[in-house]
Amino acid sequence: MRAAVLREYGEPLAVEEVPDPEPDPHGVVVSVEACGICRSDWHAWKGHGEWADDRVDPGQILGHEPAGTVVEVGDDVDGVAVGDRVAVPFNLGEGSCPQCRRGHGNVCDDGYALGFEHDAQGAFAERVHVPHADFNATVVPDAVPMEAVAALGCRYATAFHALAHRADVAGGDWVAVHGCGGLGLAGVQIASALGAGVVAVDVREEPLALAEQVGAAETVRSDRVDSVPETIAALTDGGAHVSMDALGRAETCRNSVDCLRTRGSHVQVGLTTDAEKGEVALPVDEITRWDVSVLGSRGMPPSRYDELLRMIASDQLRPEELVTERVDLGAVSDRLAAMTDYETSGIELVTEF
Ligand SMILES: [Zn+2]
Ligand SMILES: [Zn+2]
Repeated sequence: MRAAVLREYGEPLAVEEVPDPEPDPHGVVVSVEACGICRSDWHAWKGHGEWADDRVDPGQILGHEPAGTVVEVGDDVDGVAVGDRVAVPFNLGEGSCPQCRRGHGNVCDDGYALGFEHDAQGAFAERVHVPHADFNATVVPDAVPMEAVAALGCRYATAFHALAHRADVAGGDWVAVHGCGGLGLAGVQIASALGAGVVAVDVREEPLALAEQVGAAETVRSDRVDSVPETIAALTDGGAHVSMDALGRAETCRNSVDCLRTRGSHVQVGLTTDAEKGEVALPVDEITRWDVSVLGSRGMPPSRYDELLRMIASDQLRPEELVTERVDLGAVSDRLAAMTDYETSGIELVTEF
């Protein structure tokens, strides 16, 4: 099969012929119909993560946002069959550790990061292997269009888990979203569908226009105001109830914490770059004084995909509206390069392999 392989950090991915994956007894093989191109791929491609011992080794097939149809099933798999359309998280659990047993497969003690490690080769390829498929793969209802599944990726699911489960967004809340790439725009659409008023923040006009289309009540050009937190406080009569940093730079993280009202919740979903190396200074005395919550959120456990899929099936969420570009496998490197200068907007998919 054809696959796009990381050979050298920062150099174009090598599109190569590689052996088809075989299913483990507990795994399935999925024929990939689409795979999102995500900033996490960009981090891996750039060789980031050394500071957290999280660097992706050369030889890796990248791609962790697959949508596709099961074509081969391991002997021990019961709940997934050939022909099923499946949604698959990037943070795969092994299904039996204490976290998995409690439904938190996204933080499995012994899990795999699809597309980021040798034992879990990714989906910038014609086929991808999904281990522990009974635990990890969710069969998608017919009412959910394939384009929507493809657009779920890690970003949409990550934003859903961060806002609906971790930060517990409620109707009538004000939610600020810092950084309107694919993850941020997903957050805008989801928070709006959950009944919140959304303030979208970015330095670029185009993603803010998209944010308005998918539900933002207010937008802030962060390069055109003196203070992003003060601007948000004025727009929301005192600050956001929930604020999400979808970018992962020191400035966006700090703005997100600073724009909260008393008892607000900051949720961090963007990973930092080599400028921050995982460390951002935060106002801990203010966090303490005002009962502020600072939350981390990673992906979404497979145990909660059905909630998201029901909201898509009933047309309350439309992830496919965030798709801005469809490319073939050979063009992935160009799209990753475009992320370096923040030239992409919305969710871009590989749809030709
Ligand atoms: Zn586990
Ligand atoms: Zn992703």
